[in-house]
Amino acid sequence: MKKISIIGAGRVGESTAQILAKEELCRELVLLDIHDGMPQGVALDIQESASLLGFDTRVTGATDAAALAGSDMVIVTAGFPRKPGMSRSDVLEANLSIIATVVDNTVKHAPDAMLMMVTNPVDVLTWYAWQKSGWPRSRVFGQSGALDTARMTSFIALETGFSAKDISAMVLGGHGDAMVPLTRFTDIAGIPVGHFLDADALKRITDRTRTGGGEILALKQSSSAYDSPAAAIATMVDAISHNRRRILPCVSVLDGEYGLSGLAMGVPSVLDESGLSEIIELDLNDDERAAFAASAALVRADIERL
Ligand code: NAD
Repeated sequence: MKKISIIGAGRVGESTAQILAKEELCRELVLLDIHDGMPQGVALDIQESASLLGFDTRVTGATDAAALAGSDMVIVTAGFPRKPGMSRSDVLEANLSIIATVVDNTVKHAPDAMLMMVTNPVDVLTWYAWQKSGWPRSRVFGQSGALDTARMTSFIALETGFSAKDISAMVLGGHGDAMVPLTRFTDIAGIPVGHFLDADALKRITDRTRTGGGEILALKQSSSAYDSPAAAIATMVDAISHNRRRILPCVSVLDGEYGLSGLAMGVPSVLDESGLSEIIELDLNDDERAAFAASAALVRADIERL
């Protein structure tokens, strides 16, 4: 991609920009925020690491949405993170008006871009952004599952001692505590994870995955997670910019898949140069289907608040 813009130069936005620049996933990178000086300062700080980290990405900051012009992708990290004790749904009202402005600006200035939503509650706001933009669902999607599966992978690596690189996990559903980690679709070097871990250990891991964001927030108190979310965003960007056709769980607008429509939530999806080009339907068993339906019901309840 030639140009990527990140709206919201806060913690997630800045950390994402560092990775995208270092990995040279685009030639031009713009950070947009509302307080003049702040996105420019963040961008300059990253730019000044270019010779040390060895990249040629041009990083700039702006407060004028016109800077989005020509973007191939717009990543939305603008908005309030939750505070300790809050759920992601608790920031819906606060973030809705921000996302309304962000989507209007993107449609106006970058009409051909892909829109990757990150701001929470990400499932609901992806649905909202898709509706408001009027764009095809291949160009409006959200980040959640890449992060949730990375958390599950890390916990399995810590528990077993095996390389995280050999672990492939799968988490479906809404990006909340009712997400659905699927141990039946999780393996270590192609060997089902159940070969290595008993039911108690797997339950510990899936429970910790569901509350992984809250665990970090409770420890840090003054900030939610941003380094692993940024790595998850960059993984999705890499899949798209290199046309890898990677299968990653992404927040996708559903149109009959899994028997659901009228909402967006995390399902395995194919990422390639056209964006989110395909949704993979897994053959879920009764327990998995019930957990997925319960998660969908929570997302739907939030969509009804829009
Ligand atoms: P932050 O407070 O550090 O940064 C948010 C930034 O958005 C601030 O700099 C703020 O000035 C900016 N902003 C607000 N309104 C704006 C507007 N209209 N235009 C441009 N910028 C605007 O917060 P953070 O920790 O970076 O988190 C950002 C969001 O990402 C939160 O909603 C958080 O919950 C979410 N998040 C999602 C995931 C995920 O997996 N989907 C992971 C982590 C964080």
